[in-house]
Amino acid sequence: MTIQRTFSILKPDATRRNITGAVNAMIEAAGLRIVAQKRIQMTQAQAETFYAVHSERPFFGELVEFMTSAPVVVQVLEGENAVLAHRDVMGATNPANAEEGTIRKVHALSVGENTVHGSDSEENAAIEIAQFFSGNEIVG
Ligand code: ADP
Ligand code: MG
Repeated sequence: MTIQRTFSILKPDATRRNITGAVNAMIEAAGLRIVAQKRIQMTQAQAETFYAVHSERPFFGELVEFMTSAPVVVQVLEGENAVLAHRDVMGATNPANAEEGTIRKVHALSVGENTVHGSDSEENAAIEIAQFFSGNEIVG
């Protein structure tokens, strides 16, 4: 058993449509435990830093604008192989390519407004968690 932690965001299209509970139910049904969670308004600087890896992509400006357009819910998830388990329940980036029953297939509006973020590796999960949570805010 490899118990891991991963970082998750319920994006502005989720808070705007009041579906954060529905998404959390899918996360929990996938065997993941929400061990930290808070609702924040992301600043432009936070969004630019968080998505710095995409800064040269044509959609970067649109992405930062979207992520700061409404509150988000940042989370730490814990469970067996949490990084991959979460990516599985999220589904493909573009909802048109997402598997049936995944969060993005069920809820995402477009490739940009795709409801959820999940870390893509254990290393990035640790970096992303540290950007939004201090150790005593995570209660496993
Ligand atoms: P993922 O969130 O599945 O890890 P990426 O890391 O490739 O996907 O992209 C980060 C985020 O950037 C996506 O979740 C989505 O919100 C946005 N994005 C990715 N590709 C596009 C695109 N072609 N057009 C608009 N937004 C995009
Ligand atoms: Mg990514």
